[in-house]
Amino acid sequence: MDLLNTLVDKGLRRELPTREEALAVLATSDDELLDVVAAAGKVRRQWFGRRVKLNYLVNLKSGLCPEDCSYCSQRLGSKAEILKYTWLKPEEATQAAAAGVAGGAKRVCLVASGRGPTDRDVDRVGKTIEAIKEGNEGVEVCACLGLLSDGQAERLRDAGADAYNHNLNTSEATYGEITKTHTYADRVDTVQKAHAAGLSACSGLIAGMGESDEDLIDVVYALRELDADSVPVNFLIPFEGTPLAKEWNLTPQRALRILAMVRFVCPDVEVRIAGGREVHLRTMQPLALHLANSIFLGDYLTSEGQAGQADLDMIADAGFEVEGAGTTTLPAHRSEATAAVAAAPAGGVCGSGSGAAPAAAGCGSACGGCSGHDAAPAQADAGEVRSDLVAVRRRGAGTDLAPNA
Ligand code: SF4
Repeated sequence: MDLLNTLVDKGLRRELPTREEALAVLATSDDELLDVVAAAGKVRRQWFGRRVKLNYLVNLKSGLCPEDCSYCSQRLGSKAEILKYTWLKPEEATQAAAAGVAGGAKRVCLVASGRGPTDRDVDRVGKTIEAIKEGNEGVEVCACLGLLSDGQAERLRDAGADAYNHNLNTSEATYGEITKTHTYADRVDTVQKAHAAGLSACSGLIAGMGESDEDLIDVVYALRELDADSVPVNFLIPFEGTPLAKEWNLTPQRALRILAMVRFVCPDVEVRIAGGREVHLRTMQPLALHLANSIFLGDYLTSEGQAGQADLDMIADAGFEVEGAGTTTLPAHRSEATAAVAAAPAGGVCGSGSGAAPAAAGCGSACGGCSGHDAAPAQADAGEVRSDLVAVRRRGAGTDLAPNA
């Protein structure tokens, strides 16, 4: 297939595919799917070998958010019966993080619901970061606290944060249909603040919210433009009690095509399979490891994932290896660029990109008001309703039960 040969060549050269080429990946048929996975797998192996990075989520503050992101079980007015609690104490967060690190996680992602942190919240999270770093040598810490005000990214960096996550989630054109309480521009601004402070930028998307193929291409090209180091790809978990509860739009095949497209557009970036992995990829998860080089270990923010041991077994059975703490995730040309930004005097950053931080890596749901999927021949895009696979998290952070790691 000429398309796939072209995309592999471009991916190996870190050259941006055309929008038409990226759209064509999403439009491939199920008969072509294994060829698509094999092609994107070549690009993945060029930059990341057979390594899989494990990340561990710690939900520092759950639910009761004043924002109205319609995909999110923690949103204003959510009827989802999730765990709700205010800030974990640093020692509680450290204990949860240590379980993830013991399970093989290289990065701990500290996430808090809310529009954005107060300066006091930043102090609190700073203490937590220091405690985690002290107790777990070599661990990377990413903070995900919402929209940042001036100076907060620098304070998180000074406390030891390596990265900041804030997802763009969907295209600029459809953002207003998903969330009314803040804007796409607000999100871009926070990604740029994190990047300018020298934090590694983590920013991704949520697929399955009723968006069109063009919307998916728009957001992935925007992430490339922002130069995020990590791109979490969430697949909407349609939580009962949220506006997007009925949006079951994804099939395992569609999820694989989306991951392949992201790999071709962002070839040398950490592509992470985020929320919804088990729900939407199901038994096809091992194939997705040929596309993404990173996953979350264990549970998500408000929902349960498969057992941490099942994650490890899957990686080994598929012929991949867990990335060790001594290995640099990103290819040298990217990691050196991030280090140079971190070392630059304040304000001396930027260029074409920056990192974004995951706003809510685990939340997901769909936009009832968005335009439908593009009709693609020879493939089924409507997903089966599998609410039986959505389990609200009842263990780990904020409970008395041991975390899943
Ligand atoms: S995604 Fe974040 S900001 Fe939006 S409702 Fe959920 S917790 Fe709040």
